[in-house]
Amino acid sequence: MSAHTLFISDLHLDASRPQATAAFIDFLADEAVRADALYILGDLFEAWLGDDDDAPLADTVAMALHTLEQRGVAVYFQRGNRDFLLGTNYARRCGMRLLPDPSVIDLYAAPTLLSHGDLLCSDDITYQQFRQQVRSPEWQSEFLAQPLSERAAFAVRARAASHAHQQGIDETISDVTADTVNQWFERFGIQRMIHGHTHRPAIHVPAADPGTWQRIVLGDWYHQGSVLRIAADGETTLRCLPFA
Ligand code: MN
Repeated sequence: MSAHTLFISDLHLDASRPQATAAFIDFLADEAVRADALYILGDLFEAWLGDDDDAPLADTVAMALHTLEQRGVAVYFQRGNRDFLLGTNYARRCGMRLLPDPSVIDLYAAPTLLSHGDLLCSDDITYQQFRQQVRSPEWQSEFLAQPLSERAAFAVRARAASHAHQQGIDETISDVTADTVNQWFERFGIQRMIHGHTHRPAIHVPAADPGTWQRIVLGDWYHQGSVLRIAADGETTLRCLPFA
């Protein structure tokens, strides 16, 4: 099989949805093992309370990713809005390298921007304010100093608030902002962008001139997986991975 790289995001792994975890573990062992690299663009977990959380799910995932890395596949991780607290300790346990958001990588000689995608939803002012607050080092060290039970309670409240917020806003607000996407293409000098977060899988190209740029949106893993494969020759496939 020709050289290729895989991209996934928004798995939202959680003890309540073992089928998704099983599909992910199988995907790592059967498919990812043949890739040059695996990029996880955020929201690997439904929630992340801190690297000191000793839930069995974190162990299972760390072992599977570490095995993949040991078999010669480079694994990269970008934090999402659910697992923004995932730290260097856990990343080390997984054998994965942390990437800033956004990052531009050299993908078989084509500069490619990677992002979780929440930064692109810039019309959602309420969310962006929340994001700024919880990404500050002060907020994070204060949060991580709380007992796990309190952190878990906060995560439940934050998810309920986020759900209520999503229900109350227009679809266009929760999607990426076109102006911001255009600015990123210009600012970073790239012709390809890959992100997740919106759970609206698609390969977008400009209608007038399909060859000029590409914005690839990865899907979530709620009912099936979503896997992007880009080969060294540029062949691009975004496909659904059925759960067993
Ligand atoms: Mn997200």
